[in-house]
Amino acid sequence: MKDIKKRILYPRDLIARRVEEIAKEISGDYREKEVLVICVLKGAFIFLADLARCLTIPYTVDFVRLASYGSGSTSSGKIAITKDTETSIEGKDVIVVEDIVDTGLTLAYLKERLLERKPNSLKLCTLIDKKHRREIAIEADYVGFTMDDGFIVGYGLDYDEKFRCLPDIYVIEE
Ligand code: 5GP
Repeated sequence: MKDIKKRILYPRDLIARRVEEIAKEISGDYREKEVLVICVLKGAFIFLADLARCLTIPYTVDFVRLASYGSGSTSSGKIAITKDTETSIEGKDVIVVEDIVDTGLTLAYLKERLLERKPNSLKLCTLIDKKHRREIAIEADYVGFTMDDGFIVGYGLDYDEKFRCLPDIYVIEE
């Protein structure tokens, strides 16, 4: 495989600080409650693991996986849940933990599907928000970093299943 050029965009210590801040915010917002944290696989698994360990409120976790059948590296066409939650979300205070909101199509689809199941509340948390690329109106309630253009890898994020294990987040340069 051709060598892929990349440079560090968010170093691990910056990520750790930001994750702690988000966890503090969430813990404050849900002080009297137990939350169900739903992690969107695979990209958010490391973010979820770090975030969850910083929460000071009780929580349970579940996982979903989505597939988008479109073009290239972003979703564009049909989206489907390929791995669903295993617990009922009805009446629960749910926080969805996602890696990146790009066009917003994936998270908008998931939000709609989850709201049909009547949670008590539903909030969205994303590590990365590519705000200006939105194709559908959807906002995350908790955002780690907002970025413009670029394809990023590391800290759970992949390029063709590679680079997930890198502890820092890199942007691909070519
Ligand atoms: P959306 O439906 O918001 O366009 O797509 C979001 C999904 O696209 C993310 O969950 C992620 O899987 C993928 N994605 C978008 N931008 C990037 C990126 O820069 N790096 C990686 N690794 N995945 C991305």
